[in-house]
Amino acid sequence: MDALERYGDATRRRTHGAAGRFPTPRDGATSLVAVSDPQRAQHHGHDGAREGVIKFAATHQSGPLPRGAVELVGLLAGWRRVLFDLGLLGKDRARYQGAAYGNLSARLGPFPGERGARAFAITGTQTSDRRDLTADDFCVVSAADVKRNHVTSHGPSLPSSESMTHATVYDASPTIRAVFHVHAPAIFEARLPLPETAPGVDYGTPEMAREVARLWRSSSLPDGRVFVMRGHQDGVVAFGKSIDDAGGALVAALARAGERR
Ligand SMILES: [Zn+2]
Repeated sequence: MDALERYGDATRRRTHGAAGRFPTPRDGATSLVAVSDPQRAQHHGHDGAREGVIKFAATHQSGPLPRGAVELVGLLAGWRRVLFDLGLLGKDRARYQGAAYGNLSARLGPFPGERGARAFAITGTQTSDRRDLTADDFCVVSAADVKRNHVTSHGPSLPSSESMTHATVYDASPTIRAVFHVHAPAIFEARLPLPETAPGVDYGTPEMAREVARLWRSSSLPDGRVFVMRGHQDGVVAFGKSIDDAGGALVAALARAGERR
């Protein structure tokens, strides 16, 4: 968890370091480049259990959550409680070496802009261990560049380590307005007839972006709205045209998995 810990230190230093205040305008953009450790990422490239290790560089500006995002993150927090209680996200010593897992996001704005610059609100990093989140536990990712491995964000919390995975899903279609990434052993192990990304493809990589695009084009994914990340232990992604739609698709997949037991 070295990379995550380094990121965490940076969080405290940059975001809350100076007596917990938000930066004044003269502080300007808070640049965080820290996170990525290419050798390590490569070394663990196919180890699906390495949840929570940040693999992208981030430029983050600290500040309050934009007003337009507050209602959305309230609904995300509501769904998050449900998923937390189901064990689909959280932090558990017995799972993934105690690393946090699972994160939710929702698009902002009436219609998405350019590919890679479609803003979405997402749960912050290091929030998974708590059941109840507030608006301060989210941020807005305003741009994500998979090829450069770079995320631009603003808000009170640093972006989830899986922000890039969310960005790649949003890039599949402008109709996608919410993305849930959870760890659901029941779905992962049930071998349902769900679309799956290739086993050799790790989360948050350009290959994952290509896999999602492939599934969108050539499988039932646009209708089913749930896929399994076969190279990411227990990894499942659900999405929808709204937050409730994404949650509904995920719960329906859970029901199918239960049916087969
Ligand atoms: Zn994950």
